[in-house]
Amino acid sequence: MSNTGNGWVVIAGLGPGNEALVTQEVRDAIADATDIVGYIPYVKRIAPRDGLTLHATDNRVEVDRATHALEMAAEGKRVVVVSSGDPGVFAMASAVFEALENNAESHPDWLNLDIKVLPGITAMLAAAAAIGAPLGHDFAAINLSDNLKPWSLIEKRLQLVGEAGLAMAFYNPRSKSRPHQFARALDILREACGADTLITFARDVTKPGQELLTVPLNDATPEMADMRTVVIVGNRDTRRVGNYVYTPRYAAED
Ligand code: SAH
Repeated sequence: MSNTGNGWVVIAGLGPGNEALVTQEVRDAIADATDIVGYIPYVKRIAPRDGLTLHATDNRVEVDRATHALEMAAEGKRVVVVSSGDPGVFAMASAVFEALENNAESHPDWLNLDIKVLPGITAMLAAAAAIGAPLGHDFAAINLSDNLKPWSLIEKRLQLVGEAGLAMAFYNPRSKSRPHQFARALDILREACGADTLITFARDVTKPGQELLTVPLNDATPEMADMRTVVIVGNRDTRRVGNYVYTPRYAAED
């Protein structure tokens, strides 16, 4: 297969849902694309038009999807791979580079493809903004799905990050295929962070029907989260002021 030199791949973040939060450079890339690749609900956000082929696939095949995007770009197509939020946060950007690495010997020409990552507003930042400033000091972002890592590693990280006093944002907090693990995560957090630490459940952020709920960890129940929720746990200084939740910018010695 020869590289015509005209094709490219853009891995674009569509933001958390509100179309006003899609950046201009992402809009421009989509307007210039011949092909859109992505998970079905994200591809649905792209308006169909003449000359644009939409390739919507199931979420479980990220590397296949990424390989397909690289193949098409090598054929001269202009391909936008869409992710929700930011493409570098638990999303397609790493999958594209993984596919590039996997194919480095069989398709060395792909290494010269024009590949760009265009950032988007990730769910935790949109959620943090919606409730105030809970991530105003040091924090960690953790994917609670054990599809790509063992659950034991997730437990260890929750424990250590909690003990280190960092705030946390959790993606993919609770799915039907792993109903008990989020309850376990809450137990670890109560122990490591303290039961009165504030936790916020932010569902469908920036979309119609957005829901925000902040409670002390002691009152948190697993049902408060699902796969459309991003969860933010504050640090020991995180507090309410009026209707807002914020974390001060400073911290004292441990
Ligand atoms: N790349 C995406 C994250 C993909 S993982 C990003 O940067 O936001 C999918 C998880 O993101 C969901 O399970 C949920 O935890 C979170 N998420 C994405 N969009 C969201 C939204 N609008 N509201 C709340 N959580 C969201």
